[in-house]
Amino acid sequence: MTRRTKTRKRLPSKAKRKGATPVKRSSAVAKRATVVTTRKRARGAGLRAAGKAGTRKPARRGVAVRAGAGATRAVKLIYAFGGGRADGSAKMKNLLGGKGANLAEMASLGLPVPPGFTISTEVCTYFYDNGNRYPAGLVEGVRAAVAKVEQLVGRGFGDPANPLLVSVRSGARASMPGMMDTILNLGLNDTTVAGLARAAGNDRFAYDSYRRFVQMYGDVVLDLKPASKTEIDPFEAVIEAKKRARGVELDLQLTSGDLKELVAEFKDLVLRRTGKTFPDDPWEQLWGAIGAVFGSWMNQRAITYRKLYNIPSDWGTAVNVQAMVFGNLGDDCATGVAFTRDPGNGTKQLYGEFLVNAQGEDVVAGIRTPQKITLAASRAVAQSQGTSEAQRAAKSPALEEVMPAAFKELRKTAEKLERHYKDVQDIEFTIERGRLYMLQTRNGKRTAQAAVKIAVDLVRERLIDRRTAVSRVEPASLDSLLHPRLDARAAKDLIAKGLAASPGAAAGEVVFSADDAEQAREKGRRTILVRIETSPEDIHGMHAAEGILTQRGGATSHAAVVGRGMGKPCVVGCGALAIDYHLGTMRVGERIVRAGDPITIDGATGEVFAGIVPTVEPELSGDFEKLMSWADEVRRMKVRANADTPHDATVARRFGAEGIGLCRTEHMFFEGDRIDAVREMILADTTEGRRRALGKILPMQKQDFIGIFRAMAGLPVTVRLLDPPLHEFLPHTDQEIEALAVKIGVSAEHLRQKRDSLRELNPMLGHRGCRLGVTYPEIYEIQVRAIMEAACELTRERVKVNPEIMIPLVGVKKELALLRELTLQVAEAVMRDYQTKVPYSIGTMIEVPRAAIVAREIAEEAEFFSFGTNDLTQMTLGLSRDDAGMFLPVYVDKGVLPGDPFVSVDQSGVGFLMRHAVAEGRASRSRLKCGICGEHGGDPASVIFCDQIGLDYVSCSPYRVPIARLAAAHASLAAPA
Ligand code: ADP
Ligand code: MG
Ligand code: MG
Repeated sequence: MTRRTKTRKRLPSKAKRKGATPVKRSSAVAKRATVVTTRKRARGAGLRAAGKAGTRKPARRGVAVRAGAGATRAVKLIYAFGGGRADGSAKMKNLLGGKGANLAEMASLGLPVPPGFTISTEVCTYFYDNGNRYPAGLVEGVRAAVAKVEQLVGRGFGDPANPLLVSVRSGARASMPGMMDTILNLGLNDTTVAGLARAAGNDRFAYDSYRRFVQMYGDVVLDLKPASKTEIDPFEAVIEAKKRARGVELDLQLTSGDLKELVAEFKDLVLRRTGKTFPDDPWEQLWGAIGAVFGSWMNQRAITYRKLYNIPSDWGTAVNVQAMVFGNLGDDCATGVAFTRDPGNGTKQLYGEFLVNAQGEDVVAGIRTPQKITLAASRAVAQSQGTSEAQRAAKSPALEEVMPAAFKELRKTAEKLERHYKDVQDIEFTIERGRLYMLQTRNGKRTAQAAVKIAVDLVRERLIDRRTAVSRVEPASLDSLLHPRLDARAAKDLIAKGLAASPGAAAGEVVFSADDAEQAREKGRRTILVRIETSPEDIHGMHAAEGILTQRGGATSHAAVVGRGMGKPCVVGCGALAIDYHLGTMRVGERIVRAGDPITIDGATGEVFAGIVPTVEPELSGDFEKLMSWADEVRRMKVRANADTPHDATVARRFGAEGIGLCRTEHMFFEGDRIDAVREMILADTTEGRRRALGKILPMQKQDFIGIFRAMAGLPVTVRLLDPPLHEFLPHTDQEIEALAVKIGVSAEHLRQKRDSLRELNPMLGHRGCRLGVTYPEIYEIQVRAIMEAACELTRERVKVNPEIMIPLVGVKKELALLRELTLQVAEAVMRDYQTKVPYSIGTMIEVPRAAIVAREIAEEAEFFSFGTNDLTQMTLGLSRDDAGMFLPVYVDKGVLPGDPFVSVDQSGVGFLMRHAVAEGRASRSRLKCGICGEHGGDPASVIFCDQIGLDYVSCSPYRVPIARLAAAHASLAAPA
């Protein structure tokens, strides 16, 4: 087979073997039938080999595989566990799969694990590399391993008087849905079932087990599945018919005679529908099941899952064969699942469910309602459902009540496992006649809230250190902690779904314009601003609204970026909406939502609901603060925020920002009356006229900077000089133009001409950024003056300031040289006027690919670089972020791109330019400060990349600052010391 590229050391390829088990398969389709028929031979060989092996214990010592050249090496194929010891351990997940490794570990710890053995993942790999053959010695190994299990439990596999039954369980390194389902009670046939009944003194139990086995085996190994999506499971159909014939409702009401009939009917059904005879021989059953586990590694579901999660196909799966214990032997038996702590909120308390007299996955199958494990949980559920205590105790008592001894044992075991694994465990257990058995353990999945609490608690309990605690919490998961959420218990009426652009839930009445949002806010009403798309003119409305919903736009559309920046819930690109501003309606299919109607949006899922769905406010616990402080101890990179207003700056500091990495000045141009002055400036035909208008803007901008600098109290603040093309500030509709014409006393015609003359075909590559500064120096001059005057005034007040003046869109050294000179002159002049000195620096954004390429030259004029990765991505990939929505999802879907490059840095392309620019820039200026201010600064994967290329800081929207702090800490933990 060619799908493997790595060479394997332990199992020589294509070994020639004597007494091998040729399980040849011509095609995947035919595999199951072939496996079953070839087992007979396998068994014969195995029997003889095992007989000869005698006291050599081949399973424990490993079996010999002849290498290609003829040398014989011992390769261990099978790892036994049970009886207080094990060949494997939790460290051997690669070889034994997660389930097998942890079963071995639990057995070594002396926990009550039914004995069994694991066939290693290498056998799976060998199997697929060698035309679906097993390595030499496997059959003998399995024989010997089974013999050992027989010895430990004192039963015989296939023994008619006292039969050993086993489960066959798949288990890859990473838990993988799509792999084969577990088969229980293997080893039963018409003879052994009688022995089981006699040994247990319980007919019904024996036939219940038999019925389950034939059903599972028929489905999983012999492949009798529903023929279509609408057909119900064929075995369940037979059971239903039986219940009808007997006039009973529950499986439990079927008698052992009924169950016996079911077994026969199941076998008939299998033969009729698949042409396969149900194997009676336990060994044939066993090899059929082992073959099915290996076969399932290459089934379509598993392949698709691996592709999705980047799991290499050469990892292979292990097979676990384990002696059965029975939770279905009577009312002193049970099966259940539990977490050692509550995975929802992290409370230190056993959390889980069980069923009396049940087997396997009955608990999760939903046939009966499972009961709670602890009395406290049982009572809490009863209370929430209004059930009386008497009723609860009668109908749904806790394990703590019905099997107190087993419960105590379970709690003790849970504690032991936690102390051992130093993490919360998700466990599966069975109680047979009052005795507890452990069947699985793994690290438990948990919510972000629980992850934080558990990590901090485990440090308090001295189980882990702070660094480990930091590594235990996924940075991205913090998002859900920082924003309001929908109340999970509330009823919801979903009307549409768009893109989740800025997390958090918000509810309010629909408004279709920014002004309406603002007016409603003044009257104390809550609104959701609904727009086809938003533009900078809508900012005040976005501020006033609780949330934003747009019909068009992607993850980096204006609404999304601004929404995230403000920490406002936002859903964009909700194509199902048909918005009519004129009528004041939004139509979704048949439904019409009018201005004033209440809606709720969930920016974490993109969902839009009719009506007000109650939300719950986030509460940042002391544990959260503590974990963040530990992250701060660990990380190298600084974290700043992108903030444009004193309010944002204050929020950013509250979240732990260590400076502002991007203060955009254009947003300030829209506030209140200033837009008029800005428009007057744009419309002026002379430098003189522009200066006059700019003179009106200066004092207002200065006040903004004073507010921001004051809020940041000496932390660095990077102020970007004007960036967008001027026409973005002009009115668009004729109506607006006429109103403006009246206001500033020029003709509407003149205004229209001016608007048309400024119109650009490709504004993103047009007259913007430093190009404005080069053509209209007075604009930058006034901005620098505002920054420096603000800085000087605060310095006089003894408030520390640290402005960094940033020139955008530089591609050529000379651009920067020119504007740096201008900046220096203005700054020096202002400081002379104020007779004071303030520390300040001048740098540039790296967002034009050329600037990244010639970074060595650019750095001669720049004291800092800040990667504007939105534009840099756009220009490097030649991909307009405003238009990419039409094809980008298809690109990601088809795997052309691994993901949205506007969300996570395209590391091999854009990232290459970044790495190059940092290295080149520092080659000419060793102390060049480097950071990132694009949206990527809050994406954990991008943050880790930024650490790797040596950036000094990342900057992101205020609400993502904690995520970036934690991601930066993870980067430091992962970095080579
Ligand atoms: P999954 O990977 O889907 O969790 P498992 O292999 O863990 O599948 O099996 C599912 C369930 O089957 C277990 O939780 C346990 O209840 C039951 N089971 C598996 N093996 C045995 C066994 N040897 N004895 C009793 N029950 C078993
Ligand atoms: Mg399962
Ligand atoms: Mg399991």
